Amino acid sequence: MTRRILIIEDEPGLRLTLTDRLRAEGFDVSSEADGYRGFERAAGAGFDLIILDVMLPNLSGFEVCRRLRERGVSTPVFMLSARDQVVDKVAGLQFGADDYLAKPFEFSELLARVQALLRRVAAQSAPAVFRFGSVEVDFRRTEVLRDGQPVQLSAREFQLLRYMVEHRDETLARERLLREVWEYSGAAETRTLDVHVGSLRQKLEDNPRNPAHILTVRGVGYRFNAQQ
Ligand code: CA
Repeated sequence: MTRRILIIEDEPGLRLTLTDRLRAEGFDVSSEADGYRGFERAAGAGFDLIILDVMLPNLSGFEVCRRLRERGVSTPVFMLSARDQVVDKVAGLQFGADDYLAKPFEFSELLARVQALLRRVAAQSAPAVFRFGSVEVDFRRTEVLRDGQPVQLSAREFQLLRYMVEHRDETLARERLLREVWEYSGAAETRTLDVHVGSLRQKLEDNPRNPAHILTVRGVGYRFNAQQ
């Protein structure tokens, strides 16, 4: 799966260099040059990681990070700063950043730390095996057992289940699920989502008509509950 990175950096040279070099490493890279536009973009689309400069026009990197966390966006944030000061590092982490690098830096160091951060986040959010009710999901082997018996899920059903498990106990709006799991932009077919949810309930819930895990949040979307 291609990882999506958003670079928010106002220095054109650095923005272009990072874009080119990260693309050469196989990432899907987007960029913004302005704090406010960067924030809007980061809040709206499903990026796997955000590279965020501190000194930006319109909205500082700290403020972008703080607002993203306030909105419940948990995408890992890698901050860049021109100033090599401990106070900046502490401030960055306080505002919800996950890692920090002072300019100037070697691209190889940035790449190594970006990859480490992506691995760390993936390991935290996706346990190898996750159990709920009588269901056991093995994310590494892409296998699902119910009462010890294999259950066949389509690739999309599995992706949807994984996303719900990774974001368990969060209310997941329909638009968000369609955007993150189907990668739709703009008007999307909410019926597609409802059909897949119905199918997952049939396959995984003891009582699909009165689900204990894949819950409906009326008027909004769904919420995954691992407890019985
Ligand atoms: Ca800057």
